[in-house]
Amino acid sequence: MADKPYISVLVPVLNEQESLPELQKRLYDTLEAIGKPYEIIYINDGSTDRTGEMLEDFHARDGSVKVIEFNRNYGQHMALFAGFEYAKGDMVITIDADLQNPPEEIPKLVQKIAEGYEVVGTYRKDRKDSVFRRLPSFIVNKITSKLVGVKLRDYGCMLRAYSRNIVDYMNMCPESSSFIPALANTFAKRIVEIEVAHEERKKGTSKYSPFRLLRLNFDLMTNFSLLPIQFIGVLGVVIAVLGFLFAILLFVRRLVIGPEVEGTFTLFAILFFFIGIQIFALGIIGEYIGRIYQEVRRRPRFIVKRELM
Ligand code: UDP
Ligand code: MG
Repeated sequence: MADKPYISVLVPVLNEQESLPELQKRLYDTLEAIGKPYEIIYINDGSTDRTGEMLEDFHARDGSVKVIEFNRNYGQHMALFAGFEYAKGDMVITIDADLQNPPEEIPKLVQKIAEGYEVVGTYRKDRKDSVFRRLPSFIVNKITSKLVGVKLRDYGCMLRAYSRNIVDYMNMCPESSSFIPALANTFAKRIVEIEVAHEERKKGTSKYSPFRLLRLNFDLMTNFSLLPIQFIGVLGVVIAVLGFLFAILLFVRRLVIGPEVEGTFTLFAILFFFIGIQIFALGIIGEYIGRIYQEVRRRPRFIVKRELM
């Protein structure tokens, strides 16, 4: 125990009382088998079920279990940021608490980091989630690969490993919303993606509603590029030019054929089109301004109510 950990495992937890006992047992067995010093850090992200007591109990029984407790729910990525600040290992592994990613895959990731990779991603072999969960992921993968410039098959799979230097770099990023797999890849040179098994969520329910996924997507886009706002700018110019050409066309038509009388509804269509674009553009600008506001307020990103170290 006194040894400095070689492996830090981070587990963000939100109301996972049904999965925790099995998870802890399987993590313990897997990590003991590796035979290197390790620590398991659970981040209790504002759970309202028995999760808190269970984690306390794990900590009391096993010195390598540490617990960080937030005062409320801040989201999976903030939980991981907190974990990164506390982790002491030469490598850090993140894993979901719901047992969808089998802990038995961890040695494969450890092996890759030991080989010198800085980020080890994983992709889920025949992913066992509903189409409503998979479709947003598909879009995220495409967008992230483009924005970050590193093509990965599965940015969403949170069973991942990071080398010490990458964790240190991420600790230097005090942003209040972020998407960790993308952030890590902006720092890393040696990245590898390996295949892991994926299981159905047997206990508890997914903590991501479609609305939360949408928010995560906005985090991703606005955090990693100015692309959306630039795209809107270009679109605005194109539409203005088209509008101008259309006005000329109508003017010429009036001279040749005479005034248009029954075009009222065309006008409505055009109007709605423009109003739509404007609102969309305002929304995008709002996204950025909202984020700037969050950053300049400099509120703490999360508040740790209690730590069991
Ligand atoms: N989680 C969390 N805070 C949240 C949402 C989720 O700590 O606000 C944890 C959750 O307990 C689980 C992991 O993040 O350990 C992944 O969540 P989930 O399995 O619900 O996501 P999905 O598998 O649907 O992507
Ligand atoms: Mg899950």
